[in-house]
Amino acid sequence: MQQLSKRTENFTDSVIRRMTRISNQYHAVNLSQGFPDFDPPEALTEALRNLAKKGPHQYSITWGAQNFREALARKHQRFTGLEVDPDTDIVVTCGSTEAMMCAMMTVINPGDKVAVFSPFYENYGADTVLSGAEPVYIPLRPPSFDFDPAELESAFHKGARALILCNPANPCGKVFTLDELKTMAALAEKYDAYVITDEVYEHIVYAPHRHISFATLPGMRERTLTCGSLSKTYSITGWRLGYIISSARIIETARKVHDFLTVGAAAPLQEAAVTALNFGPEYYVELQEKYTRLRDLFLAGLDRAAIPHTVPQGAYYILADIGEFGYASDLQFCEDLARKTGVGAVPGSSFFRENVQHLIRFHFAKKESTLQEALNRLMRIRETMK
Ligand code: GLN
Repeated sequence: MQQLSKRTENFTDSVIRRMTRISNQYHAVNLSQGFPDFDPPEALTEALRNLAKKGPHQYSITWGAQNFREALARKHQRFTGLEVDPDTDIVVTCGSTEAMMCAMMTVINPGDKVAVFSPFYENYGADTVLSGAEPVYIPLRPPSFDFDPAELESAFHKGARALILCNPANPCGKVFTLDELKTMAALAEKYDAYVITDEVYEHIVYAPHRHISFATLPGMRERTLTCGSLSKTYSITGWRLGYIISSARIIETARKVHDFLTVGAAAPLQEAAVTALNFGPEYYVELQEKYTRLRDLFLAGLDRAAIPHTVPQGAYYILADIGEFGYASDLQFCEDLARKTGVGAVPGSSFFRENVQHLIRFHFAKKESTLQEALNRLMRIRETMK
């Protein structure tokens, strides 16, 4: 038989998603793939129940249901101050996974270079391969995960046509400061590059840090493709509702790509999600409080277990240092951790361009009782991993 496509030879299945399957296999507490085990807001599930009879059950308009786009435009405007025309500036996608892929295919030609910070969310690697792009990596240096502006400039100098920016960042938990964003903006302007942002954790930020949407920087609206999602904000990762917000010029093309990739996001779910997009400011305050509590609980537990870790400024991931266990492969460590200790984590090497084997990623978007159980197991890590 003929070979399968060449482009699929250059990446593996997602290690994040694989670790969920491995965790399930060993009945481990799954702190690998980032999704909550608590319910979405009641009002949202109630809205879905009501829609089951009433519909819609057929396709929505390919670029998103009118209601949904209008509610999203209002919500986005409320938080960023940017005016968004629901008729021209939005395309609704199947999660931000599609949004990112669609954004890349909208601005990138095969053979183009794309600047990516490392560590980075695993999908960007496959996204660049699938869109035929060549990534140029810019290291974010621990412990503060700062970047060197000269290294960023050198990526543009080498010809990067776009920058991928995950802010707040998965997996390192960095929330980029205004000054850092200004540096990126100046370079994007100077080298006439697009900026594709992944802002799915925009509402999960820990005081005193503050999320600044990149498109709000002067002159950036026209060259930014803001990818977002309802998954994390409303605890509905399975609904697969994401979007790109950008200028009408960019969105017109993104809509073409999206139309042929997936036609559209699930119509009844878009309709139900309007309820969430209309939540008042108190919802977001409570969300921050909830995640701050979970973060503090989890970090305190790791401290008790004497496991060194990062302290996230945003998003819900931490990188833990497992150097003391002396594993040559962090993937092997994570498999053993799931099997012997009963906790699922993601090997850090799936996020780093550099050869890093001493870090693993946990997420803490879980009920307090789930985190407590994971922490109880981690307290014995030095016995179980022997
Ligand atoms: N963003 C989540 C993570 O990093 C997973 C998202 C997904 O699997 N689609 O774990």
